[in-house]
Amino acid sequence: MAQYPDLQLYIGGTWRRATSGQPVLNPADESEIGTVPIASRSDLDAALAAAADGFKVWSRTAPAKRGDIMRKAATLMRERVEEIAFAITLEHGKPIEQARLEVVRGCEFLEWDAGEGQRTYGRVIPSEPGIKYIVLQRPIGVVAAFSPWNFPMSQPARKIGGALAAGCSIIIKAAEETPAGALHIAGAFHDAGLPPGVLNLVFGVPSEISEYLIPQNPIRLVAFTGSTAVGKRLTEMAGRHAKPVLMELGGHAPVIVCDDVDPVATATMSAVRKARNAGQVCTSPTRFFVQEPLYEAFTKAFVEKARTVTVGNGLDPATQMGPLANRRRVEAMETLVADARAKGARVLAGGERLGNRGYFFPLTVLADLPDGARAMREEPFGPLALINPVSSLDEAIEKANALPFGLAAYGFTHSASNADRLAEGIEAGNFSINTLEASVAETPFGGVKESGFGREGGAEGLSHYTIVKNISHRLM
Ligand code: NAD
Repeated sequence: MAQYPDLQLYIGGTWRRATSGQPVLNPADESEIGTVPIASRSDLDAALAAAADGFKVWSRTAPAKRGDIMRKAATLMRERVEEIAFAITLEHGKPIEQARLEVVRGCEFLEWDAGEGQRTYGRVIPSEPGIKYIVLQRPIGVVAAFSPWNFPMSQPARKIGGALAAGCSIIIKAAEETPAGALHIAGAFHDAGLPPGVLNLVFGVPSEISEYLIPQNPIRLVAFTGSTAVGKRLTEMAGRHAKPVLMELGGHAPVIVCDDVDPVATATMSAVRKARNAGQVCTSPTRFFVQEPLYEAFTKAFVEKARTVTVGNGLDPATQMGPLANRRRVEAMETLVADARAKGARVLAGGERLGNRGYFFPLTVLADLPDGARAMREEPFGPLALINPVSSLDEAIEKANALPFGLAAYGFTHSASNADRLAEGIEAGNFSINTLEASVAETPFGGVKESGFGREGGAEGLSHYTIVKNISHRLM
C-alpha cells in the first residue's frame, strides 16, 4: 500500500528536518496528510554552500556521465510510478491516471534533457593561421528555481532537468502545498548516485526564500514558473543584481474554431481537455472564439460533454476531474462566475461549488461574455470555459491577441490558408492546430509578452542554463 512520504528538506546529499513546518492538506476532504518543513536561514545557507560545492563537481563531470545519472533517476521514478502518483493525487487532487501520466511526462523531460546535455556543442570560428577562436557553452552556475503546485512532479522535473543536463547545480523551492513530487525526484536522484550538493530541495515561505536566495553570490540564474505578478517581482529582484531569468508565467489560451470543422467532435475534445487537471494548467484552453455558423452546435455539444464529466476524489478510478488544488482556486472561480453573470454572460453548465467539504467545482461553461467580464481578462486557472461567437477570422485573431498574455493558443480548421493565417497572426509561444497538446519534451515551450521569457524543453531548453565563452588561442 502506497503511503504519503515523510517530508524533509534535501541539502548537500542528506535529508534534513526543519525546526518548523506547516500542514499539507488533501483537497478532496481538507484533511491534514503531512507537515512540510519550513527552511530557516541556516538551512538556506547550507543549501547555498552545498550547491556551490556541487557545482564544482558536476560542471566537471562528463555530459555522458551526467546523462547516465539522470536517466537512472528517471528509470527509478518510472518504477515508483504508483507510489509517486498516489502521493500527487493525495496532495493535489488530480485523478490518479492523470498523476501517473504526469510522472511519465516528468521522466520524459529528464530523459530528453539528459540527451541534450550531450549535444551542447561549441564551435570553432574560421580564422587566420596561428590563432584559433573556440566558442564553448559552459554551465551558468548555481540555479535558484521555484516550481508551482499544479504539476507537483513534472514542473520541478523541467527545471531540474535543464539545470543538471547543462552541468549546473540547483536549489529548488518546490510548492509547499504539493511537496511530494519534488521530494520523490530528490529521492530518485539520491538513489541514482547524484553527487552531494548538485540538487538541493527546500520549502518555506516563498517570498522569504526568493528574497534571500536571489541576491546571494553563488546564484547565477533565477528560474520560475507561476503567476505573472510573482514572475515580475522576481525578475525585478534578479535585475537589481544583474542576474538572468527564465520565466514561465501565466496564460489565457484562446481557441479559434473555424467554420469548416466538425463542431461536435471539436467541442467534445475541447471539454475533455478543459477538465484535465481541473483546468489548472497554464496552457488550458479557455477563451473559445467560434465562427458564427458553428456557434450554437459547438456550444451545445460542449455543454453536453461538460455535464457528463464525473467530479470526485482522484483516488476513485471513475473520477474524471478531481477537486481544485486549494481553497483560493474555488474562491477565484466563484468570483469570476458571479462577475460574468452580473455582466450578462449565460451560465450553461456548472457555476457553483459542489458540496462544502473538499474543493470541488464542476466544469463550468459560460457563453456570450462581454469583453469587460473579468474572466475574459484574468487567467481563471480552473475549470472555466468561455465561449463567444466571432464573425470572421480577423476578429478572432484580434480578440485572441487582445490580452497581455501569449503562452499557448489553438486553432481548428481544415483549411491550409486559415491555418497559416492563424499561425502567423496569433501572438503566442506555442500555437497548435487541430490538437490541444501545447508541448512535449522535444519541443520548446514558453511564452511571449507577459507570459514569460525563455524556453524549456526542445533543443532550446538548455540555452538559459549555459553561458557562451569565447576562447582566443594564439598558437606559440
Ligand atoms: P501565487 O502567485 O501566490 O503563487 C504562484 C506560485 O508562485 C506558487 O507556487 C508560490 O509558491 C510561488 N510564489 C509566490 N510568491 C512567491 C515569491 N515571492 N517568491 C517565490 N515564489 C513565489 O498564486 P497561487 O494562488 O498559488 O496561484 C494562482 C495563480 O498562479 C494562477 O492564477 C496562475 O496564474 C498562476 N500559476 C501559474 C502556473 C503555471 O504553470 N504557469 C502554475 C501555478 C500557478
